[in-house]
Amino acid sequence: MSDVVLSTRNLKKSFGALKATQDVSIDLRAGEIHAIIGPNGAGKSTLIGQICGGLRSDSGRVYLNNQDISSKSTQERARAGLGRTFQISALAMEDTVLENALLGALGHSGNPWRFWGAASRDTDLRDRAIEALVRVGLDGAAGQTTANLSHGQRRQLEVAVALTLSPKAFVMDEPMAGLGAEGSKEMTGFLDKLRHEAPILLVEHDMDAVFSLADRISVLVYGQVIASGTVDEIRSSPEVREAYLGEEA
Ligand code: ADP
Ligand code: MG
Repeated sequence: MSDVVLSTRNLKKSFGALKATQDVSIDLRAGEIHAIIGPNGAGKSTLIGQICGGLRSDSGRVYLNNQDISSKSTQERARAGLGRTFQISALAMEDTVLENALLGALGHSGNPWRFWGAASRDTDLRDRAIEALVRVGLDGAAGQTTANLSHGQRRQLEVAVALTLSPKAFVMDEPMAGLGAEGSKEMTGFLDKLRHEAPILLVEHDMDAVFSLADRISVLVYGQVIASGTVDEIRSSPEVREAYLGEEA
């Protein structure tokens, strides 16, 4: 299919005898939010690690814009256009918001630290960093220390960092975690706009967010995709209710 931006084919990962992911094949299409849901321990974070390169797959492939990125490092995948945001924040808390965005922009140019002094004076990098902050609505906070941001703003800053690399697809592991009801609502609105920048593969536990955002949902249980479909199809699937949603209700 021509509009598939990111896809996995038969991804597998075991930890000893435990099969964390088994033959996971999913597609992320242009413009969409594809949510991955499933109970704790289903293999969601393992899958994200395999897609982003932090975890080496036992077998299977990952494609970004039809390019096989399976053997690339995490950094090479990011440079190829895989926009990852982290379950645990990788921001430098004592640095300013702009400095964090600059650090992201530097990812374009290889070694992130070596040319730091020069980079902060490089207008091209600055422009790209500031533009990314504008796009996530954080340009007003550019000079603030990152530690002063709210949880939600930090997540937005992570997205800004990812945006500096002109991502072709976003991959997110539980962006709503720890945000509270109000923060989750704001983040939902944010992601709804962000999908126009690049499609989002979204692992999320917050079902309100998933049901309001997702164009498609895949359900992962014991490392296997047991169902994939629209929100309505997933909500009304007896198998899914039994395996997963039923527990929540
Ligand atoms: P989820 O994100 O859906 O909650 P995970 O991908 O984190 O699930 O975990 C899937 C399974 O793999 C769980 O049983 C978990 O305990 C196990 N697991 C995850 N990472 C490791 C690891 N590094 N070593 C051993 N077992 C792991
Ligand atoms: Mg997880």
